Amino acid sequence: MRKLCALLLCFILSEVQADEATLIDNVRVWDGLSEMLSESTNVLVIGDQIKGIGVDAPKSAVRIDGGGRTLMPGLIDAHVHINLQFLDSSVGVPGANQMTWEEIGARARDAIAEFLPSGFTTVRDLCGTGPGLRNLIDSGFISGPRMYISGACISQTSGHADFRMDSEAVTPNFGDSTLERLGITILADGVDEVLKATRNNLARGADFTKMMGGGGVSSDRDPIESVQGTLEEIGAMVLATGHYGTYGAMHAYHDRSVQRAVNAGIRSIEHGNLMVEPESFKMVADADVWLVPALGGFAKELMDHPYYGNPANPAHFKAKRVNDNGTNWVKLANLYQINMGFGTDIVVVGKRSSRNLRDYQITQWGESFGNLRTLKAMTSDNGKLMALTGTKNPYPNKLGVIEPGAYADLILVDGNPLEDLAVIGAVPSMFKTIPRDTPSVPSIRLVMKNGVVYKNTL
Ligand SMILES: [Zn+2]
Repeated sequence: MRKLCALLLCFILSEVQADEATLIDNVRVWDGLSEMLSESTNVLVIGDQIKGIGVDAPKSAVRIDGGGRTLMPGLIDAHVHINLQFLDSSVGVPGANQMTWEEIGARARDAIAEFLPSGFTTVRDLCGTGPGLRNLIDSGFISGPRMYISGACISQTSGHADFRMDSEAVTPNFGDSTLERLGITILADGVDEVLKATRNNLARGADFTKMMGGGGVSSDRDPIESVQGTLEEIGAMVLATGHYGTYGAMHAYHDRSVQRAVNAGIRSIEHGNLMVEPESFKMVADADVWLVPALGGFAKELMDHPYYGNPANPAHFKAKRVNDNGTNWVKLANLYQINMGFGTDIVVVGKRSSRNLRDYQITQWGESFGNLRTLKAMTSDNGKLMALTGTKNPYPNKLGVIEPGAYADLILVDGNPLEDLAVIGAVPSMFKTIPRDTPSVPSIRLVMKNGVVYKNTL
């Protein structure tokens, strides 16, 4: 495999060869776990994997001088929605239902291009992305991060993924909405329908599946405090995913929905931002369940958003409740030391707002949980979360760490991220920071995924 490096990005001509070696020399390593950087050393990559740290390289190895910079694992965003990029921020997620497949596909293609130049080498999609885009990336047709996908998110009628327009919701099964027809959402009521929906996702190539277990912010039909899915329905998804060696994830905000999810065997709770009872955090910790909070919901600036900040939209009042729970939530999450993955849950218009929402959440994480925990959440902890896919794991080697045998997903950054998260893109304000013009974070100088260099500004 050879790469042609233009000014910023490299064009991949073919797949990485199994014996191709790259030595990244003169670097200080943050391995995804440690409290400090290593002394100056090197990292040898052979094929798609890390071969060793501080080792001799074969003569034929391509040598990259890291210039004393920090080499760390590629970043992982554990909650994205590549196929839910809005038409217009004033209409929210329901507006996605008005888009044609070309618009959805083109926006998805655009959204996925944001990740690698920003240092994100893996994403986990929680609603609506099938294997098509991943296949194009993995085959080298387009460049992008590794993708873990849930397939169509499963929702009860009137649940968090019931985005039918009123004209489509006259009677149940009146007609599938655009989002259902495109396999982005699926409405399922009763054990049989949930089993079928789960199995259909697995048939399409989903690595795990997701169900809506309670009220959501961006949907209009479900009260935020609503409970969704019967215990039998949730259990049906857990059973069907377990039969295939993988797991079920659940959208759940408040205590009741979180506790039901834990009791039903869900392994990953998405959000949880309305949890107020210490018992809920204790249950999550005791069951070794993962929780992926989108901290953007806690940002005070969220109330300046054109959709969530507008009292004319039902989502405004839901978003406000989440917003008000931030301080208490962070206190309890720290107290109970629950497993947490870094996930941004961005469903917005435009590249610039998407960048700022993600970049600001890095700052929020740092302020809430400290830099080390933030970096671990973005790398090694998220790597463990990806591995919950078990026998369905499309990328079975380790992710998010620098150690022999792990995938060679690496970024080289100016400065020490343990001291300053800005070196991986953190910004001080969600809406008031002047957005970057390009997806590239300038202090991330080199991005390698699967042993292939995708960005090199050294
Ligand atoms: Zn989401």
